Amino acid sequence: MERVIEELKELGIIRREVVEKALKEVPRAEFLPEEVRQYAHLDTPIPIGYDQTTSAIHMVSMLCEETELEEGDEVLEIGTGSGYMACVYSKITKKEVFTIEIIPELAKFAKKNLRKLGMDAFIHVINADATFSLPFRNDFDVIIVTACSKDIPKEYIEKLKDRGRLIMPVGAYKFSQDLILIKKIGKKQEMKKITEVAFVPLRGIGRIYND
Ligand code: SAH
Repeated sequence: MERVIEELKELGIIRREVVEKALKEVPRAEFLPEEVRQYAHLDTPIPIGYDQTTSAIHMVSMLCEETELEEGDEVLEIGTGSGYMACVYSKITKKEVFTIEIIPELAKFAKKNLRKLGMDAFIHVINADATFSLPFRNDFDVIIVTACSKDIPKEYIEKLKDRGRLIMPVGAYKFSQDLILIKKIGKKQEMKKITEVAFVPLRGIGRIYND
């Protein structure tokens, strides 16, 4: 992990000490199924079962850096998966994190992983379909969507407070989407394409339906 972090710093993907520190603090192996634990230090997406993957280390770093995630931020994550990324955000923000997962078994898996590390009191794993039901709050500083959709759901932007940031993979192609960052400024939004990415699709019964 140390070597990957050094490389990501050299590449300018990790820019701040808070991100470096959080990545060093959270043991990625503890969030992986036993048969793939040996790959925890590799900077690649890793399968976590149910056809889902946990993102590569550079992607986790990029999501934290591009949203300028910092202490005090209130975060909503869509797509809990293993719970690893939610744990990293929480180390940076020093706050609770809310995270939604549609697959009941993965929600359970994430809760178990977080409990092992004593992080379950800080990270609220909600087993729900985030294309259909979202928290009754619209004061999040940062929303991180870790599954791709054809367009940016305005329902997600509505959940942000003023100057809040939303980051998500957007696109119709299975193996390539644009990672889009949106900043909410008053009634307007600033939009920026960060890079091309490959995420699993957001599925569900809501308007934000994908496949
Ligand atoms: N952030 C994760 C990796 C996410 S993979 C980690 O730290 O490991 C994307 C996840 O989004 C998958 O677990 C998938 O089941 C979930 N997902 C897909 N559609 C969803 C929806 N409509 N609502 C909530 N979660 C969803």
